[in-house]
Amino acid sequence: RVSAANSPSPSAEIIENVVIIGSGPAGYTAAIYAARANLKPVVFEGYQMGGVPGGQLMTTTEVENFPGFPDGITGPDLMERMRKQAERWGAELYPEDVESLSVKSAPFTVQSNERKVKCHSIIYATGATAKRLKLPREEEFWSRGISACAICDGASPLFKGQVLAVVGGGDTATEEAIYLTKYARHVHLLVRRDQLRASKAMQDRVINNPNITVHYNTETVDVLSNTKGQMSGILLRRVDTGEETELEAKGLFYGIGHSPNSQLLEGQVELDSSGYVLVREGTSNTSVEGVFAAGDVQDHEWRQAVTAAGSGCIAALSAERYLTSNN
Ligand code: FAD
Repeated sequence: RVSAANSPSPSAEIIENVVIIGSGPAGYTAAIYAARANLKPVVFEGYQMGGVPGGQLMTTTEVENFPGFPDGITGPDLMERMRKQAERWGAELYPEDVESLSVKSAPFTVQSNERKVKCHSIIYATGATAKRLKLPREEEFWSRGISACAICDGASPLFKGQVLAVVGGGDTATEEAIYLTKYARHVHLLVRRDQLRASKAMQDRVINNPNITVHYNTETVDVLSNTKGQMSGILLRRVDTGEETELEAKGLFYGIGHSPNSQLLEGQVELDSSGYVLVREGTSNTSVEGVFAAGDVQDHEWRQAVTAAGSGCIAALSAERYLTSNN
């Protein structure tokens, strides 16, 4: 950090070593590593989720697959622990959204609703958002029957041994359907078109699986509940005839893709055609030197808390190397 204290002029502005944007597993892990490397990271945690930092895991109950918690841990608990660990090592946390940034020339600038910060490097860890169908009762049943992650939720008692449905016709949906057959009694795949968009190999695996029934030309209209208020089925509509039917199911998984939160980098850093930040393979280096990306915003494949945390670690160590070699 170059500050007034060690620069020639007392009025010289502070240039931070590293600004981390995002407070999911990627952002906090990057903050822990950067703080332990004495880089004094500044973290913009974001406040989209009703003023709560912590990212996607704040919207879930049990996390059963994060190493170190043999009995599971709730998403909010896990994120609070990561936050505390980052704070303990001296990360400066601001619960603010970054509204704009410029990486066209160094030092970079990051502008939130409260402050403008100059910095030598940025770790961009803003995550991704699962696309939703916006069904009328979606909010009511989110995490209580509706999920966007089969790997995260498929084995939960809510879904184990039950009839489940997956909506979507691409690779994500077909993978989710195949994965869920490990736990479900039967899986229905709800496809709006008259064919699957997934790769030929995935199509074959779905079509040849006796535990999956594919419903083509089928629109998902809403979820249904029983008298106890639990999810009991799905209201479907034939796209070709308009006929409505009810399908018995205890869970509905969305497999319709994710939107990476990469808007702030548009036009400044290379993104792929779906908006994911492009990083050099096996690294967190983006197309701009000194700008690193970690977590779901650069990962359209694995999207797990532990992979996000791992890439946050790589990004912080890479930023440290970059700062050392440019000093
Ligand atoms: P996120 O967790 O998405 O965090 C991104 C952060 O960036 C947020 O804090 C957001 O506020 C912030 N942000 C965004 N834009 C800005 C901005 N402009 N300025 C400042 N901050 C900004 N994974 C598992 O491994 N196990 C599970 O059991 C599991 N369960 C899940 C359950 C649900 C309901 C969901 C939705 C996901 C689940 N996942 C699970 C997936 C896991 O949550 C993600 O893979 C992981 O959170 C990705 O971490 P991330 O740090 O990349 O991003």
